[in-house]
Amino acid sequence: MFDKFKDECGVFAIHGHPEAANLTYLGLYALQHRGQESAGIASSNGREVLCYKSMGHVADIFTPERIGALHGSMAIGHTRYSTSGDTVLLNAQPFSVACNKGNIAVAHNGNITNANELRNDLEAAGSIFQATSDTEVILHLIARSREQQIESALREALIQLEGAYSLVFVSQDRVIVARDPYGFRPLAMGTLEVSGRKVCTVFASETCAFDLLGATYIRDVEPGEMVIVDSKGITRMQFAPPQKRSQCVFEHVYFSRPDSVVFGRPVQLSRERMGRLLAREYPVDADIVVPVPDSGVTAALGYSTESGIPYRQALIRNHYVGRTFIEPSQAIRDFGVKLKLNPVRNLLEGKRVILVDDSIVRGTTSRKIVRMVRQAGAREVHMRISCPPTISPCFYGVDTPTKSELIAANNTVEEIRRFVEADTLSYLSLENLQDAVNDGSDHFCYACYTGKYPTELVQLQQRLPLEASRL
Ligand code: AMP
Repeated sequence: MFDKFKDECGVFAIHGHPEAANLTYLGLYALQHRGQESAGIASSNGREVLCYKSMGHVADIFTPERIGALHGSMAIGHTRYSTSGDTVLLNAQPFSVACNKGNIAVAHNGNITNANELRNDLEAAGSIFQATSDTEVILHLIARSREQQIESALREALIQLEGAYSLVFVSQDRVIVARDPYGFRPLAMGTLEVSGRKVCTVFASETCAFDLLGATYIRDVEPGEMVIVDSKGITRMQFAPPQKRSQCVFEHVYFSRPDSVVFGRPVQLSRERMGRLLAREYPVDADIVVPVPDSGVTAALGYSTESGIPYRQALIRNHYVGRTFIEPSQAIRDFGVKLKLNPVRNLLEGKRVILVDDSIVRGTTSRKIVRMVRQAGAREVHMRISCPPTISPCFYGVDTPTKSELIAANNTVEEIRRFVEADTLSYLSLENLQDAVNDGSDHFCYACYTGKYPTELVQLQQRLPLEASRL
């Protein structure tokens, strides 16, 4: 029913700026890597909440006219990625409703693991749903709350949710943000100068959105915290006690941009250290270190620095691969990968190559890349992965497939090596990954590498057949 476990998203919010929608557009532009399927902005002019969303990339969706129509000094925005048939416009965010608490719009990053149960209860009580996204549940819970104050209604809604959520709301007169008590997904808070000494408040999934606006990162929204920004200022509320911190380590491995500070730590630092530790853990005698762009670049630099083996950009990525292109009528072998990547033959010819990437999910892309490097003349291909084998699906908002499709869930490293046709294959150990993200206090979620999920409900879901739990 819900397209659970698939949404990878970016969220943004701003309060107190005359160009709120325009700055939200810029914020979303910087967060485009977090979701390329659809995007949307909702703004408030003090009387009503206005919303525009569409399928596609941020820069294609928002024309000056569309942004100009989103009046007001408060706005929220969302970019969404989904891999399956559920990519309909109805599921694009923000979601907005008019209810007895006024007009409210919400945008969400994460996955609510008890959304099906909540939705069944709400439908039984008469709620009518428009989309199949779990986010809509939150609006219904707010609308049904007997609490009059929006913050109280929201608190009542949030404590019923389980799973991962970094949420941004805009109502007629305020912006509210909240982060789940485990702190799975990131949510940073910053300030931006409006004019003279006046500053406004901004929130974003990643700080790279602040950099584009010239905003200053202040702190993260804390697990279980709600922050309310209105004309009187900023108020904070701990809506639920914080649980054991479970920050998504995959944000540092792959998902976030290396120029972002995520969970208070520069992603670049983590990724370079992953590469350095990988070189210490799995050295190999070779001629060049080559990243799979862009995901392997920073770790490959770390590997090269640590090993002293030269870094070479021997795979070139075409960044302009659009959503629609005319496919050749005759099948070209590995067309999809060739569209994205092309080898630099003179760098690879006769070389022993260390190929660095962040992860192997199904293994099919990695195999095509190894073949491509070999066909370009490489003598040996040694694959190095900057995290442990991905053995379990994510229930908290990263698009990993079911266990049956995860190559490392069903094969040994040696079997994967044979499948991807590499001469050697090694993964960074869990201990070294923890070291790389500086996790001395066990504040990260490693469930995709360990199968140990931090929340109770997912442990229950684990006992169900995984395919069924994805319905
Ligand atoms: P494959 O060999 O088919 O498993 O593909 C591996 C590639 O997929 C690597 O380059 C990863 O960076 C990339 N990748 C890993 N996780 C994701 C994700 N959640 N979304 C998109 N790409 C991913």
